[in-house]
Amino acid sequence: MKSTCEGSDFIIHSPEITANQARHYPCAYNVTMPAQLGDQNTHGQVLLEKTAARSPNHPFATVWLLRCPKHGPYRANSCDFHIRKCPEEGGKPGLTAG
Ligand SMILES: [Zn+2]
Repeated sequence: MKSTCEGSDFIIHSPEITANQARHYPCAYNVTMPAQLGDQNTHGQVLLEKTAARSPNHPFATVWLLRCPKHGPYRANSCDFHIRKCPEEGGKPGLTAG
């Protein structure tokens, strides 16, 4: 299985942040992790679509459409993708559309 979290290829917007902080708290530190459509994160969630919609609850994020292999698609913050769990498996609820 492909890992999308290896290396230090993500983008850190503030110089005082360590790579370890960025990896584990990307939303808190405004870190943009690169991701391609079809990528699977460490929890098995697949990136289906990057929408241009602004996140309803996060100042830095846009809305991405993810899919759980067991429970189907849901919306999540872009900065959450690499650490996101399915809403049915302990993750936060999916974002509401619009
Ligand atoms: Zn699931």
